[in-house]
Amino acid sequence: MNVAHWFARSGRAHGERPALAWGREVWCDHRSLCRRAARMAASLRRRFALKAGDRVALFAPNHPCYLETLLACWWAGLAAVPVNHRLHPDELAWILEDAEAALLFLGEEAESVAGRVPSCVRELVVFDGPAYRRLWEEGEEEDIREVAADHLAWLFYTSGTTGRPKGAMITHGNLRAMTYAYFIDVDGIAREDAILHAAPMSHGSGLYILPHAAVGALQIVPQSGRFDPEEVLALLDHWRGVTLFLAPTMVNRLVRAARPRPRPASGLKTIVYGGAPMYLADLDAAHQVFGFRLAQIYGQGESPMTITALDKRAHADTDHPRWRTRLSSAGLPQLVCEVRVVDAEGRPLPVEAPGEVVVRGASVVPGYWRNEAASRQAFRDGWLFTGDIGFFDADGFLYLRDRSKDLIISGGANIYPREVEEVLLAHPRVREAAVVGVPDREWGERVVAWVVAEGAVSPEELDALCLERIARYKRPRAYRFVQALPKNAYGKILKRELRRRWSSEEGADPAGNSAPQAPRGRS
Ligand code: AMP
Repeated sequence: MNVAHWFARSGRAHGERPALAWGREVWCDHRSLCRRAARMAASLRRRFALKAGDRVALFAPNHPCYLETLLACWWAGLAAVPVNHRLHPDELAWILEDAEAALLFLGEEAESVAGRVPSCVRELVVFDGPAYRRLWEEGEEEDIREVAADHLAWLFYTSGTTGRPKGAMITHGNLRAMTYAYFIDVDGIAREDAILHAAPMSHGSGLYILPHAAVGALQIVPQSGRFDPEEVLALLDHWRGVTLFLAPTMVNRLVRAARPRPRPASGLKTIVYGGAPMYLADLDAAHQVFGFRLAQIYGQGESPMTITALDKRAHADTDHPRWRTRLSSAGLPQLVCEVRVVDAEGRPLPVEAPGEVVVRGASVVPGYWRNEAASRQAFRDGWLFTGDIGFFDADGFLYLRDRSKDLIISGGANIYPREVEEVLLAHPRVREAAVVGVPDREWGERVVAWVVAEGAVSPEELDALCLERIARYKRPRAYRFVQALPKNAYGKILKRELRRRWSSEEGADPAGNSAPQAPRGRS
């Protein structure tokens, strides 16, 4: 079944209800959204001679046209290729070529990319420009193209914190499974509710279109087209029953903006966070400001929005003896998939033993687009190997440690950066921390911490804090105090960039920037 049928159902049953808003203004109701999509679908198929399965790319900040275009693609049986609009034009060109995209929809960046798109792209269409409007003003209305569950709906390019991005092939069947799982494992949604797309629709937030479309809820796009905490707070005072998907760094920024206000975010229903670790100290701060309105999802482009979830009830279950421990987990496996932790040979590990997280089930994509080698490596014996390290507790909650490539092995001992970062963040003036392993002649790797502090913090204070809370050998041997950490467009810290900076700086040791080397002995 084509997911466009969910939109069509609302178009028929609640056609007059608002479907899409741009800031505070209603952009269109369900009936006109479906009409536009049906006409755009006809234009895409006839005018550009696109066939089922052909790829259409989107390269733009969030905009109501983004959702219209996604829907038109699905309606016509085409595959959407949303591309992070902050990528360099050369990176965009690489993705367009890899996906062999036939059309490219753009925001206002048209000039910067025109002339740099590969020859497979037949035309560029600027959102809400004259060519865009012609797509739905002139076309006939076309019926939804029937497709099988394994039909490609979304080519999801991985965020590329390492190497070239790979296109995870998300099918209509995957989107359906993901949507069902949301209702069961994350949160209920009523027709009167809304989703506010403040995080990029090309990535995490775009997936939240589906569960909200399934019940005909309102989809709101901020007028800035991006995450601006002040704008988000204003919209949360205007609309009711609002859900947001945010990366943890965005949650932290929203908390800081909301804290001075008397009753912030009155229309907020749920903040779903995910995409990167959320530290306990930050979660506590978010609960203080917003109350127990947070839920967590652990997923990947390869199993969109679905591996495990920690719902709002688990966040609020303060009487439970293991409440705080559970808050540091990624929750329980979602109902549509099986999750295991395995050793290097793929054998399941017992409770508490860390290993690689693997997943199988209806939400897991069939592989990477035209990339046999990467597919063979990540998809083995029916399981998706996530590259994440974690362990289960006896109650079935999954605790994530780190990406396997971020694990630090020092003197033969495994050190999980997240554990050290949690300790550093417990310091009241540490705002952000990232811990990486750098080459060390004696120990193989050495722990180094990058810290963003508010006010003065000394390496000695942080060292003392670590000695109080974790084994000696895990504590950082050097600190770098910086204004900001390097992040990708989705707010993920680029640890490979920190490692690169270290190797280019090594030996230079700018004055005042690093701690005196602590004794190397082990505890
Ligand atoms: P992407 O495919 O770009 O969405 O990135 C997925 C990766 O983000 C996962 O493999 C994890 O490493 C990380 N991630 C996603 N959700 C969480 C979470 N709730 N907690 C910690 N890391 C997460």
